[in-house]
Amino acid sequence: MKRRIDLEEKLLDFLYSWLRPIRIGDLKKELEKDNTAIPHSSINSIIKRLVDDELVTWQKYGPISLTQKGQQQAAHKQRHFHLLIMFFMDTLNLSHLEAKKESYTIASVISCTMIEQINRELNNPQKCHCNEAIPRVEECIARS
Ligand SMILES: [Zn+2]
Ligand SMILES: [Zn+2]
Repeated sequence: MKRRIDLEEKLLDFLYSWLRPIRIGDLKKELEKDNTAIPHSSINSIIKRLVDDELVTWQKYGPISLTQKGQQQAAHKQRHFHLLIMFFMDTLNLSHLEAKKESYTIASVISCTMIEQINRELNNPQKCHCNEAIPRVEECIARS
């Protein structure tokens, strides 16, 4: 069960970084290039579950796109992810790679309260050390 959720999250993260709709054949190719460990055979069923959760839209033979809810959920996770990376790099002197690895797993389980505390500690950064923008997610800030 946990594994399935991991794969759904991975796919959601990919679609978020891709920034536009993508056809399933291209998606498979990109994931291969990216070496993302999503088994080929599972991609269709993962996408169907994301459709059921209203996180993506997908018509057969058409492109897959994130819904607003999917966009929001992915942005929220990115916010946690990058703030954690910065925190680990700044306070524990982890390398970017180490910080990334740790943060990816923690990002979806750490509370928004904790993330907001980290955000304040880091003086509300707009950009991560990896140079990506840190999405401002009202839901995350409000929850803290
Ligand atoms: Zn980052
Ligand atoms: Zn949050």
